[in-house]
Amino acid sequence: MPDLVEAAMRLEGAVKKYLDEDPELEAVMRRMEPLLKRIYDGDVPPQRVFESIASRHSEAFEKHDDLEEAFEALDEAYDAAHLKQIRDSVGSRFVEHLDEKWTRRDCPACGSRVWTVPKCLFELREYSGGALVIGGDMNLFAVVPVVCESCGYTHFFSATRAGLQKADADWPRLPARR
Ligand SMILES: [Zn+2]
Repeated sequence: MPDLVEAAMRLEGAVKKYLDEDPELEAVMRRMEPLLKRIYDGDVPPQRVFESIASRHSEAFEKHDDLEEAFEALDEAYDAAHLKQIRDSVGSRFVEHLDEKWTRRDCPACGSRVWTVPKCLFELREYSGGALVIGGDMNLFAVVPVVCESCGYTHFFSATRAGLQKADADWPRLPARR
């Protein structure tokens, strides 16, 4: 699996190779340049920006096999870089938990299958009638929001069930519906 910098250099090289014979690629190069710079600086700019460049110029990309392959390799390197960010922040256990348990990934609102994960856990607090209570016996529910990149529909996964946190309470189970 190539790393992001390597994949970006490969795509840049492939675009430059056809610049003379394919003037459309100049626009591609102009749009790509700031993003490539961010990648070379060690950043991970949004994957969707590259995707929108590729889809807007899809004919130019499809004309050249090595260009298309270089773009696909960048896409793969992006997936790997994003997965690493999730493993390094939320934790590898969460990635494995989703791999194992989350089988139906179509967004219930828009049908998309592209989801994003923030780089930290969040907490839901027990309702206390409008007063803000800090500490004490306040119940907290740690969650990982998983957000549809297209429409924003959000799933909350329990950090405890995902094995990120120790369970400190057994919740009563609602009897299965027969
Ligand atoms: Zn959606």
